[in-house]
Amino acid sequence: MTKKVEVSSQETLGASQTKVLEWIEGNREEVTQFLQELIRVPSVTPWFKPKAEDSREKEVQEVIGARMEGLGAEVKRWEPSAEALAEYEGRPGYYADHTFEGRPNQAATLKGSGGGRSLMLTGHIDVVPAASGWTVDPFGGELRDGRIYGRGAVDMKGGVAAMVMALEAVVKSGVKLKGDVIVGTVVDEEAGGMGTLDLVAQGYRADACILTEPTNLKVAPLCRGILWGKLVIEGRSGHIELPQGDWRDGGAVDAIGLARVYMDHIDRKNEDWRRSKTHEYMPLPCQINVAQVNAGEYPTAFANRAELVFNAQYLPREKDEMGLGSKVKREIEEFVAAVAATEPWLVEHPPVIEWMIDADCGETPVEDEFVQTGIQEIRKLGHEPVIEGVSAHTDIGWFQTLGIPTFIIGPGDPRKAHQDNEFVEKDDLIELTKMIALIITKWCGVD
Ligand SMILES: [Zn+2]
Repeated sequence: MTKKVEVSSQETLGASQTKVLEWIEGNREEVTQFLQELIRVPSVTPWFKPKAEDSREKEVQEVIGARMEGLGAEVKRWEPSAEALAEYEGRPGYYADHTFEGRPNQAATLKGSGGGRSLMLTGHIDVVPAASGWTVDPFGGELRDGRIYGRGAVDMKGGVAAMVMALEAVVKSGVKLKGDVIVGTVVDEEAGGMGTLDLVAQGYRADACILTEPTNLKVAPLCRGILWGKLVIEGRSGHIELPQGDWRDGGAVDAIGLARVYMDHIDRKNEDWRRSKTHEYMPLPCQINVAQVNAGEYPTAFANRAELVFNAQYLPREKDEMGLGSKVKREIEEFVAAVAATEPWLVEHPPVIEWMIDADCGETPVEDEFVQTGIQEIRKLGHEPVIEGVSAHTDIGWFQTLGIPTFIIGPGDPRKAHQDNEFVEKDDLIELTKMIALIITKWCGVD
């Protein structure tokens, strides 16, 4: 379950931190308008086959790049290449068939004066398509009753806007940082995370990292890995209204009945996992969730085949040496085989799992100095920080694998992500901007 963290020393704001917060307070509209500007450039991942005018990832990067150049940052923009990343085959985020024409990644580095620790601020600028249920313009960036509406408001242009504006607040209030800050904005997260793989493959590193996916402003130093699999169960069709007799004598075998056997066993497996696969900072235990049941062909025949499409989650401690979920895959395969051993038909016709997705995860210990710094700085704003892992996949795994302490914090309710009428509260956006600004000055140091 989620925990509140006791912080031993309640520090007070430094002089430069006070200036930075004042700048943000005096420029609330500016921060809001920057998010609106990002929302108004649609950047739907091409994976979902949007119209070309809804898929302008490059333009979002240009908007962010121009802003960062205005702050004195050095901006690099390049198109990732699956071919160039081929050595990462079998590692998280690698997809041989993803293409990046007109879809650049970007890293904007604001050099510090030296002697301070560096910080990476990162997020994805691609979004999922707007479904048909919107009652406001999904790419209008409308501000109404303190809420900013639009596709990506929560997931995650809100977080991206906050990180850029936090840095702008530092620079424009005349505070000089010692350490470097890199704003890394990537494409392709909504289709698997190859953008982040590419960012780290280009050699971008820092002493710590914040990813601003939405967390309702909770501090999330971990996320879960996600497996998608399809369990394919073979049966034998036959007239559903007639006597069938034993399958050994040619009788039908109902694949739907076998699927039901599996679903009962999955329920029992989940009872196990409810106890064994928990984490003190995760709101949910890992489970095998059946998401789709596909079976049968027409009303007068037993089903020839049944498919159970499932989503199973894994914890950072269950990752294999490649950073992925092969151990949990094996565990599920053994479970499927053990169930098959109890049914003679299944012994001769063993079900198979087709694995579809393995999205990685990671964890930085809460005791880590950077996480503790984040907690202390957030406290200065009068918030009691809540530590809670993200139970879905995010892109933090690569940073943590490279030994970079990382946590996620972002504005807005994560359940609003991918929903119609997605919105973020303006107040949350401003709060996150302040939090990040304080963390930047504390972590990187000021002259
Ligand atoms: Zn996201």
